[in-house]
Amino acid sequence: MSHYQVNDGVAVITLDNPPINAMALALRRRLADAIHAVQADPAVRAIVITGAGRGFSGGGDITEFDLPAISQVPLPAELLTLIESGSKPVVAALHGMALGGGLELALACHARVAHAQTKVGLPEVQLGLVPGAGGTQRLPRLVGPELALNMIAYGKTREAHSLRDSGLFDLLTDEPPLGAAVTLARDLAARCAEGGALRRTSKLLLQMPNAQAFFAFARATVKAQSQGMPAPSACVDAVENSVTQPFKEGLRREMESFTRLRVTPEFAGLRHAFLAERKAAEIRGLPSDVMPRTVERVVVIGAGTMGTGIAMSLANAGLPVTLLEREQPALARGLATVREHYEADLKKGRLTRQQFEQRLGLIHGALGFDAVRDADLVIEAVFEDLEVKRQVFEQIDAIARPGTVLATNTSMLDVDRIAAFTRRPQDVLGLHFFSPAHVMKLLEIVRGACTSADVLATAMALARRIGKIAVVSGVCEGFIGNRMFESYLMQAGLLLDEGAWPQQVDRAIEKWGMSMGPFRVCDLAGNDLSAKIRQQRLARTPELVYSRTFDAVVELGRYGQKVGRGWYDYMPGQRAPLPSDEVNAAIVAESQRLGLQRRAISDEEIADRLVLALVNEGAKILEEGIAHQASDIDVVYAAGYGFPRWRGGPMFAADRRGLADVITTMGRVSRRPDYQRGADFWQPAELLCRLAERGDSFGTLNHSEHL
Ligand code: NAD
Repeated sequence: MSHYQVNDGVAVITLDNPPINAMALALRRRLADAIHAVQADPAVRAIVITGAGRGFSGGGDITEFDLPAISQVPLPAELLTLIESGSKPVVAALHGMALGGGLELALACHARVAHAQTKVGLPEVQLGLVPGAGGTQRLPRLVGPELALNMIAYGKTREAHSLRDSGLFDLLTDEPPLGAAVTLARDLAARCAEGGALRRTSKLLLQMPNAQAFFAFARATVKAQSQGMPAPSACVDAVENSVTQPFKEGLRREMESFTRLRVTPEFAGLRHAFLAERKAAEIRGLPSDVMPRTVERVVVIGAGTMGTGIAMSLANAGLPVTLLEREQPALARGLATVREHYEADLKKGRLTRQQFEQRLGLIHGALGFDAVRDADLVIEAVFEDLEVKRQVFEQIDAIARPGTVLATNTSMLDVDRIAAFTRRPQDVLGLHFFSPAHVMKLLEIVRGACTSADVLATAMALARRIGKIAVVSGVCEGFIGNRMFESYLMQAGLLLDEGAWPQQVDRAIEKWGMSMGPFRVCDLAGNDLSAKIRQQRLARTPELVYSRTFDAVVELGRYGQKVGRGWYDYMPGQRAPLPSDEVNAAIVAESQRLGLQRRAISDEEIADRLVLALVNEGAKILEEGIAHQASDIDVVYAAGYGFPRWRGGPMFAADRRGLADVITTMGRVSRRPDYQRGADFWQPAELLCRLAERGDSFGTLNHSEHL
């Protein structure tokens, strides 16, 4: 896992723990052994540490964070002290990535040589932690407390060249860094031999005359931005310690803080969310030798809201796109939208002029279907109407060459029926982007009954290439995300009928952690659009129970933010939702029509009902095999629906609460005297009952069990 070779007095130690050289216990042990060996080896005058494969090191092994391994020797901080305090110079040669514990290791070396594109950072705060191996004490000593605080409290990853003058690196290079690192190590050894001293990061002096005011301001800023999360404030404390405390004391307090944060629910949720994203990328049942098809030319059909966003997300990753429309005005509108977005990015400095030109140059418009002939991938984003989809897919089928991947961006329609419009259903799947498609990270990949393995693999590879978080869903109405959201909205509506107000529902669930309450979401998405979907749904499921206030809002012309009125009123040019008397009157009228005595509803009941609605529907989705694993559902909600990442996702939140308690609470809601409607809504999913009965959780569910 870590080995070394000596060449002309320089020992090169290679971290080798694929895929990212995580600093797991076994690697730490091997590294400590190697350091002891080279320190004792008289043939060695200097040491270089490098990483095998993709990068230097991606950091600590997150799967070990709650295992005894995390506190077994050598502890990361002790290992780094061993490296820093040795008598022979140690140089880190960085490429690919040096993140978290990987960067901390580099900080403890006596010098750093990096490839200019190396990704560096201390992202621990994004997992609800502080760096735990001296990063908060060494980084400020090298780059100054302001920059260090910024890197540690926000956890953003940066490329090494953007830190060129920061003091972090001794040398940046566009070549593989090992050669330059060996040369530097040799130079340092020669200087030591002449009596020169090694530069030990922990011994550097750190002075900041305005420290008190600076950290007071930083603490207030970070607190205001972090919604009560403990880690960002702990990062400020830790960096402040680097200025006000001796190194050793700062290190001790950093470890104390790391240990305390490691047992918080925030860490548990964030770690789950992180690991769940990685797991979602591994598709079960896909043969290991399956090869994705080549995708170099993409055609997007329909230059509306979604088509333009999808085209931009492809062009942003360097893929050429042809955007197809039926008529010139629609095409011109679509291309103008694309240009406006990129111009705004250029103005805000998010794009350089060169990037702006390049991206615009990658998107071409066309009328008619000719471009489909040369496409490797076609993504359809026309109106949500099965007949329109049929016409479009028949045309595609008539001219696309064999092997072209055919995708639909439908939100609710049956992907298998769409696939059946072609003579090649094995090449068809759903690529469900979220709006705005060039911003939203989530991509639901909908696997049809006939979708072939390599088409699925192609979609996964595309998602990676364009920086999306992909989750595979089976075919059902609304797939994973929207199907669950319907249950959530249904409860939100019934709460209004029983006594709550939209602003109260939104506030309660936002306080719980959702980034936006359901009624604000509806106003943003457009109440007329959801009404259309509801009408289609009602045609198939007339017994559907929902609050008629949803219809009332649409009948009042309250289509949402776009018209300045929805569940809320909006002042021109402002997004702040203002309670509406008209809506509140409609709500009261509906309660009266139903003969319900409006009652005070607690924030706790609101949050319970909304979240448990998600959980029960999620359990059914699992049971039906629509989602492969509970954590996939969590990824959908955290990445696409504003579910608080620190709670992990709805299924993880249910696990933490305990499934028996979930069932008890559902029962309590359904037995309320005024909860007369949709009582069977709270009938717990069979899978939920089974797991609760044996004291199990969604997380431990054996994959094959629910299929
Ligand atoms: P939109 O009305 O903004 O755009 C549809 C475009 O398709 C229009 O520009 C129209 O001119 C064009 N079009 C229609 N028929 C065509 C044809 N035969 N050939 C070429 N172009 C044609 O709609 P949208 O909101 O972009 O939605 C498109 C699809 O994406 C729908 O299936 C929708 O359900 C799905 N979707 C929408 C959202 C969303 O939030 N808007 C989110 C996810 C998925």
